[in-house]
Amino acid sequence: MARITIDNVTKRFGEDSNAVVAVDDVSLEIADGEFVVFVGPSGSGKSTLMRTVAGLEQQSEGDIAIGDTIVNDLGPRARDIAMVFQNYALYPNMTVKENMSFGLKMSTDLDSQEIEQQVESTAQMMDIDSLLDDRPGELSGGQQQRVALGRAIVRDPNVFLMDEPLSNLDAKLRTTMRTEINRLQNELGVTTLYVTHDQTEAMTMGDRLVVLNYGELQQVGTPLECFYRPTNQFVAGFIGSPSMNFFEGQIENGTFASDGFTYELSKRMQSNLDGRDKATLGARPEDIDLFEDSDDTNGFEVVVDVVEPMGSISYVYLQPVNQDCKETFVVEVDGQRPITEGQRLNAHLPPADIHLFDATSGETIHQRKLNEDAEEALSQRIPDHDVSAEAD
Ligand code: ADP
Ligand code: MG
Repeated sequence: MARITIDNVTKRFGEDSNAVVAVDDVSLEIADGEFVVFVGPSGSGKSTLMRTVAGLEQQSEGDIAIGDTIVNDLGPRARDIAMVFQNYALYPNMTVKENMSFGLKMSTDLDSQEIEQQVESTAQMMDIDSLLDDRPGELSGGQQQRVALGRAIVRDPNVFLMDEPLSNLDAKLRTTMRTEINRLQNELGVTTLYVTHDQTEAMTMGDRLVVLNYGELQQVGTPLECFYRPTNQFVAGFIGSPSMNFFEGQIENGTFASDGFTYELSKRMQSNLDGRDKATLGARPEDIDLFEDSDDTNGFEVVVDVVEPMGSISYVYLQPVNQDCKETFVVEVDGQRPITEGQRLNAHLPPADIHLFDATSGETIHQRKLNEDAEEALSQRIPDHDVSAEAD
């Protein structure tokens, strides 16, 4: 098992002015045994960063260390990692048993009886022992992905690298496998890097998230830190579903004025503005209140555009009544609450839950309040991880 250090790593594809900067000066320390998720939209550099750790891509600049060894010049085989991909990458002409044994034969000194034993016990753990004599073509997608995971686990590597391993599975199976990978990783305690574009997967699986956009590191933190303490508007919008609502506005004498409404900023918000005369206000769908009628001077009138019932909750898409543009925002309400399209309601943005972002850079300038004991809970990770050398 091993710690991973990514030190000022940049990866460019192509030459000079035509170069694509896939990974832009990323530094990051991953603790031994930690489960870290690289998350970001398509093209943000997640796979490229992982592939540099694997040795499948050579970084243009910077160093990568696994444990205490700088591995820049080591090929993938010498790095003692096991990878799992979205497309499974099983050998079609080999049985499950042969697929799982192959890596062990190539990279260890184990004799065939020891290999057989390890393959069988891993197959039992993964519940694929009844499939050992089948070929990949005879298996369902879910079974193939279990075999691919089993093949990685049986090698007992220093590091697992998983690139969108669940993306080809249907929604229900994806949820089951998510839980299972979580459990396996906990049991095995192997340092794991996991790539996904799916923020739900990231939130539910990672000890920490590494949020990327355009190859640049946006934030490194626990899922709850990224959710409640986003460092910028990108992270605020990317983590959480549906996304945080954003309103652009001008500020004059402590009043925020957007196209749709005006809002009196609290003293704390005003001091955090630091003299800015414009900002982007952010409010999550679950934090906004809707009243049938209200004498609250800081609320504003809205009309219901669309209602999306989810069961226990509904998403209500709303438009400020006095708005020129047609943009809507979304509020989460109790699923049993009767709300109909065209209805008029009063929206209220609770001051404690509001975020403010710089209108140009998107940097966070004001954070929501949290419950007293929540502050501590946010940063909690698995206790035996050594994260003292964290690099964010
Ligand atoms: P992600 O995994 O987050 O979707 P990638 O790491 O695959 O993103 O890609 C990051 C950027 O690098 C994209 O702009 C992509 O087009 C580019 N890129 C990735 N691999 C190559 C390559 N082999 N040659 C040229 N450009 C590449
Ligand atoms: Mg990718």
